[in-house]
Amino acid sequence: MPAYQVIALRAFADNYIWTIRDATHAAVVDPGDAQPVLDYLAREKLQLAAILNTHHHADHVGGNAALLARHPAPVYGPHDERIPEVSTRLADGEHFTLPHFGIDMETLEIPGHTRSHVAFFGGGMLFCGDTLFAAGCGRLFEGTPRQMHDSLTRLSRLPDDTRVYCGHEYTLSNIRFARAAEPDNTRLPELETRMQVLRDQDQPTLPSTIGQEKATNPFLRVNEPGIISSASARAEKKLSDPVSVLAAIRDWKNNF
Ligand code: ZN
Ligand code: FE
Repeated sequence: MPAYQVIALRAFADNYIWTIRDATHAAVVDPGDAQPVLDYLAREKLQLAAILNTHHHADHVGGNAALLARHPAPVYGPHDERIPEVSTRLADGEHFTLPHFGIDMETLEIPGHTRSHVAFFGGGMLFCGDTLFAAGCGRLFEGTPRQMHDSLTRLSRLPDDTRVYCGHEYTLSNIRFARAAEPDNTRLPELETRMQVLRDQDQPTLPSTIGQEKATNPFLRVNEPGIISSASARAEKKLSDPVSVLAAIRDWKNNF
């Protein structure tokens, strides 16, 4: 397997187009805009090896067609006709080998943000789109709190050192909410300081890791007493099951 790097191409206000590259090829995840990718491929003299799509939102797939017009490549994504460019549709548990790079990728269906959202897990990396963010999770546009809880629980069972590549740079605002939701979590002020340094240098705060998320992400900590009590205070009733806790803090975050 050739050595590769993962770099962040920026799109729109805060999207990341994660790009796996070596000396000759690149594979991109969620190219919402073609132009940053076209510019990068031209400047670095790379061939496009593949496109991966996590979900159908335009800020993740909007660049597919323009990219493919110039750089024909296979497109891996979910069973969802709202992404017409997908050439290999993948269901939960299905694997594929990332072209050129030879990385075995497993597909995980993780509904919640959208009903057909998938993540790709391989090479110690997780590309999770808008389901899991550093210290946060996606909004529930098409899914239920139970679906999001089950999806996040599955992701939390991946190895702690899994590198987590999220679709957006939301980390600092997520940490501000996490500190409100779990004031006694001493990891959060320390994380905020480190992430603020990165942002001050205009660097991505990502990738995170599954271990970091389990320690700091309120949406993965819905069984922790501190989260249960602040969610219960917010909901003005005693919440005992993790799905209700997740629903309460998701609603709180929507209005934070
Ligand atoms: Zn989205
Ligand atoms: Fe998005």
